[in-house]
Amino acid sequence: MRFSKLFGKTLRETPTEAESISHQLLLRTTMVSQIAAGVYSYLPLGWRILRGMEQIIREEMNEAGGQEVMLPVLQPFELWQRSGRYISFGQSLFTLTDRKEHKLALGPTHEEVIAELVHRYVQSYRDLPLLLYQIQTKFRDEPRPRGGLLRVREFIMKDLYSFDVDEAGLDESYKKMSQAYKNIYARLGLPTLMVEADSGAIGGKESHEFMLITESGEDEIIYCSNCGYAANREKAKFAKTKVNTETPLPLGEIATPGTETIEEVANFVDVSASQTLKAVFYSADGEFTFVVIRGDLEVNETKLRNALRCSKLSLATESEVATAGLVAGFASPIGIKGVKVVADDSVTLGSNFIAGANKPGYHFRNVNYPRDFQADLMTDIALAHSGYSCSKCGSELSAAYGIEVGHIFKLGTFISEKMEAFFLNAEGVSKPIVMGSYGIGLGRLLAAMVEQNHDDKGTIWPLSIAPYQVYLCPLVLDNPEVASVVEKVYQELEEEGIEVLYDDRNESAGIKFNDADLLGIPLRLTLSPRTLKSQSIEAKWRTEEETQLLPLGNVAEEVKTLLGERLASQGCT
Ligand SMILES: [Zn+2]
Repeated sequence: MRFSKLFGKTLRETPTEAESISHQLLLRTTMVSQIAAGVYSYLPLGWRILRGMEQIIREEMNEAGGQEVMLPVLQPFELWQRSGRYISFGQSLFTLTDRKEHKLALGPTHEEVIAELVHRYVQSYRDLPLLLYQIQTKFRDEPRPRGGLLRVREFIMKDLYSFDVDEAGLDESYKKMSQAYKNIYARLGLPTLMVEADSGAIGGKESHEFMLITESGEDEIIYCSNCGYAANREKAKFAKTKVNTETPLPLGEIATPGTETIEEVANFVDVSASQTLKAVFYSADGEFTFVVIRGDLEVNETKLRNALRCSKLSLATESEVATAGLVAGFASPIGIKGVKVVADDSVTLGSNFIAGANKPGYHFRNVNYPRDFQADLMTDIALAHSGYSCSKCGSELSAAYGIEVGHIFKLGTFISEKMEAFFLNAEGVSKPIVMGSYGIGLGRLLAAMVEQNHDDKGTIWPLSIAPYQVYLCPLVLDNPEVASVVEKVYQELEEEGIEVLYDDRNESAGIKFNDADLLGIPLRLTLSPRTLKSQSIEAKWRTEEETQLLPLGNVAEEVKTLLGERLASQGCT
């Protein structure tokens, strides 16, 4: 490819709208271009990389036994009503109405469609297991698209679905896919951590995310370096300490004027925050909900949403609190009526707590569960922090940030039951197919690759997915000998099947070298009047400072050998 003909120009300045490094560099290298909030075009360089990643993913899916299909983007809304997931997706689901007034959805994922398809063709346990996948555009109406390709409304995704006869079969498919994902990230040179995750709107009982650990990540990960436990903070468990084991004392009221926060009341009464109970009020799908948790802990809203099985959760407004008959700052779980109470199990790990008395300026002391109040729902709804204890081994937990580059789910049977995807087992009994779902967003992966592989000069692409392998860079192009030799070298490299970006512009060495570094093409070949004197061309890797001279007589062979050695050393043959 001749640079002068390449569609898209490199930018010297960083575009002001770009927040993350990947966003900045993808715009400066004109790999992508935004046309609306969260909607991007891919230009030739970006598309070449994306196609390279797609190829690696496709090979690993096929290797694991996946069969490629192509499902429709337009999905009958009726399918989403049948599965019930139009509720969990809520406004993230793009919908439209056709000329005959039929409601349709633009697919954010394809469990319904594929279960419907499998229902038509799978009859017997002999037809299973089955792994079906596609690489296709998805749509989600993100409330806040941002970060370039990290949070978008239209994106290309590889989604594979597994179909098995039972849970053991699902475990097998899940293991196979986890390994395929690890292979993909290894081939891309992307170090990832597999962490337990919340299943969110997709549903199902167990899921894992693959995280690239980086400071610019938007997900927080809690992990234990002793036993290897790792989870998204939304999901993370920890061992709650027991704070006080005194025998319960009689309930009493104390005046606590002007103490509206946990910190204020704890200071006033001279106890630690863990000796108090905190009240937090939520509106869960419109229902007022009283949440109580030990004063030293915070509510994890994802855990709470899952416990309540609600789709919309927000803090209650002042007027909702007043309508429920509660006094903010002094609210009490004791004696309230007609309000749903959810308690974190930490309220059982202690005794004689301080809690609100539901009148201004007063608290109760010696509050004990379940003697003094009861919860409609008691479960773990607490947010994990670094420094807390690991629930598996007791060691101290740490925290890190990450970018999610893959998410896999054990769905179970809740979708196949709704879509009537059944099979007959060996005994002739009809059973729902056990499903799994496995996604990788390709644009997000591209952004993660840039976050992981860049320096202050620009992007650095591994050979396995670089848009071109070689940047051919002649200097003093108005020198007729340079011009004629570089054309010959370009032909020879192309004939050898080497992917070359040939900088045929009559620009200064500074501009050309800057662009070579910005575009991050692995091997730069520089031909100048100086190297011509020794009948050679200078080779330099993007990641190294040293250069070497290759003899011009045999340049294509020499370059091929260099690239082959580099690919082998990166484990990408
Ligand atoms: Zn541990």
